[in-house]
Amino acid sequence: MREVIFISTLIFLFVGCNPKARTEDPREVLGFTDATTMRELASKAIGIANKILENQEQNFILKASWKDEQGNNHESAKSVKTVEIYLLRPKNYYPTFVKEEGNLNDFRAELENIEINKEHEYCGDTEDCVENLYSNFGIGPIVANVLKQQGSLEIAKTNPLSNYIALIDGDLQKFQMLFGQSIFGEQDMPGFENFIAIVLLHEIGHLNRSFSIQDIKELPKGNFEGYVKYFNLLNPEKKEEARADAYAAHLISKYARSNKSDLTLDDRRIILYIPIQAMYTYLYQLLDKSEGGRCRQYFDPTKTHPNLQLRYIAMSLIVSDKSNDLGQLSRYLGTRESLSKKRFATVNMECSSLDF
Ligand SMILES: [Zn+2]
Repeated sequence: MREVIFISTLIFLFVGCNPKARTEDPREVLGFTDATTMRELASKAIGIANKILENQEQNFILKASWKDEQGNNHESAKSVKTVEIYLLRPKNYYPTFVKEEGNLNDFRAELENIEINKEHEYCGDTEDCVENLYSNFGIGPIVANVLKQQGSLEIAKTNPLSNYIALIDGDLQKFQMLFGQSIFGEQDMPGFENFIAIVLLHEIGHLNRSFSIQDIKELPKGNFEGYVKYFNLLNPEKKEEARADAYAAHLISKYARSNKSDLTLDDRRIILYIPIQAMYTYLYQLLDKSEGGRCRQYFDPTKTHPNLQLRYIAMSLIVSDKSNDLGQLSRYLGTRESLSKKRFATVNMECSSLDF
């Protein structure tokens, strides 16, 4: 099956200056209050992101707005531009995530019993027959519920005019529910804090206006051109997201491959979390072959953000050490283009509410 080949390929793939800052308290701007649930993970992520920023002598250093259990807020003496990290939740908002847990449990129960319809085994995502790929009746709506959770995530906010990043606690918890354990929900994802560190570095990318796509030119042959091809397909808002993604992936790649002897293997393995995130996102989308499901897999959730899977596939090019490692991106973009020409892309409400 194509999916299986795709997954194994993924697994083997990887064995300036900031505008003048305004003083602004995001708690006041957003009307939010401090949250505590995810502090430990957020502190770990800040520690990882700081090591990566220091390694590249970036003009940024992250500092938690709270003290962690060791009384440390990770402030550095040689900080150039201190970016304060807040962990916030809306006031008087106490989510229990019962609905989200229920959706995930339903999804995992179906996953255990998934059956491939042999007759349609080789149907591709652009062919109508793919809708009958799985025999499980009603899997589509179950996957759709989980994906709505994923599509609406807004883990962090920043204002390019202010030096802060606000992590949004409720969305961070939903992010952990989706990606903090195996797809079957069995065991904790080791090193989940690396996913959050990538998000923090992406936000720093928004703050670092001096970084441009040209700064990643020295990738193995063909990979830069691949990223540029993807970049050029995007509208200005999405380009800004892809620029911040490229910044995060570039720093991570330099860090993981630096010859500094004080870096442990454990430090360096953050580079794996980019293709892992691409694979996780892909696995959640794999089972819904309805028109709407395929649109969610290949189209963008909003006019401002590219599809999460697409973003991570593209970032994987930046951290790859293989030349012309464009297979996945080309397949993805090819399918996306073919689907966008289908009648249902404009007629089906689930599809027309998305962007491509
Ligand atoms: Zn962003």
